[in-house]
Amino acid sequence: MFGIPSIGKLLVLGLVVAGVYLFFKAVKRRENSGSVPGNGNSKGSPPQSQPNQSDGGSLEMVQCPACKAYIPAKSKCSCGGNG
Ligand SMILES: [Zn+2]
Repeated sequence: MFGIPSIGKLLVLGLVVAGVYLFFKAVKRRENSGSVPGNGNSKGSPPQSQPNQSDGGSLEMVQCPACKAYIPAKSKCSCGGNG
């Protein structure tokens, strides 16, 4: 005759199952958060941040063919030889 297991045994069994479940849950959480495989620096500085190239920052300088003076490419030389 199969009797219904007692409440005490069920409680012990439940505690054991719950303990094992929580144990593996904790191990999984530790594995996920602790050691990240692969990447050494995940969120560091970007490799090369280019400086913002504004209009007034760097002008391309050209040499005036007439007076050999270096002037901005988009401006006319005072001597009138360039453009
Ligand atoms: Zn010139």
